[in-house]
Amino acid sequence: MKCLNCNSIDIGKIGKQQYFCWNCCIEITVNGEKLDLFQVEKDGTVSSLNDLFFEEIHSKNHQHDFVKVIE
Ligand SMILES: [Zn+2]
Repeated sequence: MKCLNCNSIDIGKIGKQQYFCWNCCIEITVNGEKLDLFQVEKDGTVSSLNDLFFEEIHSKNHQHDFVKVIE
């Protein structure tokens, strides 16, 4: 599994369906077929990155492959 943002493989599992990239501090939540991406700031603020990522993921059909890799 690689980070969608930086392609790092330094991904930690932080919950049942939650992953965290230690390289760029992106939190990835698996929601069935859907992924939610969040940027975690140093002060703990979390902001959604879905707007930045999902259009590109859909167009390249990467989301489905990504979910399969996790499973
Ligand atoms: Zn990353």
